[in-house]
Amino acid sequence: PGQRATEPPLRLEDVYLAVKTTGKFRKTRLELLLQTWISKTRTHTYIFTDAEDEALRAAGYNVEVTRCQADHSQQALSCKMSAEYDGFMSSDKRWFCHVDDDNYLNPGGLLSLLQSFPQGGELYVGRASLDRPITAHELLDGNKTREVQFWFATGGAGFCLSRALAERMSPWASGSRFEQTSALIRLPDDCTVGFIVERRLGRSMVHCPLFHSHLENLLLVQQKDLSRQVTLSYGMLENKMNTIEVKGGFSSEQDPSRFKTIHCLLYPFTSWCP
Ligand code: UDP
Ligand code: MN
Repeated sequence: PGQRATEPPLRLEDVYLAVKTTGKFRKTRLELLLQTWISKTRTHTYIFTDAEDEALRAAGYNVEVTRCQADHSQQALSCKMSAEYDGFMSSDKRWFCHVDDDNYLNPGGLLSLLQSFPQGGELYVGRASLDRPITAHELLDGNKTREVQFWFATGGAGFCLSRALAERMSPWASGSRFEQTSALIRLPDDCTVGFIVERRLGRSMVHCPLFHSHLENLLLVQQKDLSRQVTLSYGMLENKMNTIEVKGGFSSEQDPSRFKTIHCLLYPFTSWCP
């Protein structure tokens, strides 16, 4: 339904790429993304942050300064996700994809994945953070609660929503309603997206192993499969640095996240690549 034979093939520029960041990670995290993958997607990448950044704007980036609290609370993060959703809804893009500022997004991998779906379909694609659905206690009237189960895509691995699905989410996701829905289940922003899609709209999340967060063992991602991956990440896991293992480009000392090396493997003609 909704699929028109005349729909032109999806281009990368048709994808609204929302990056969640915060003022204090401007140098330590965002800079690395600007140097690497965002250099390929600048015009349709939207940087959601809590601190005004004139220099970033002047350099031609789309900066969306939210009025959300600048902390890691459930409320602050739901507020940012809500701003990302509203930003997409007022755009003319065909897909919405969210990533964190510790994600490398592989433009080619993303485009291949999204092109594999029927255009015009209602799709929610990402990586499940647990191996079973989450159980939430939805608040009902009169202080009662109801147990509900649903899958959700972990925000730290990135996820995508098609336009058709995002439109139908609006009664629970637009404006102040996203934060209200989040409060109803008392769970974070990424769980709230899963709740709306699976429990309010009855659509199932598409489980895709090509999205990656630093909560999984990234050593399991092999260099030969790099070009198919959609997102990668880095961070601490059990007190050790968790990154994918790639050879070439830069040493681990020069490039602890491995994002520069990944970028040089995917785009070897980049001026600063060895
Ligand atoms: N973040 C934020 N405000 C904060 C802390 C974090 O917006 O005060 C964002 C951060 O930029 C990232 C996401 O929230 O995009 C997740 O943060 P982080 O990777 O530090 O924590 P995780 O949840 O992965 O452990
Ligand atoms: Mn993280």
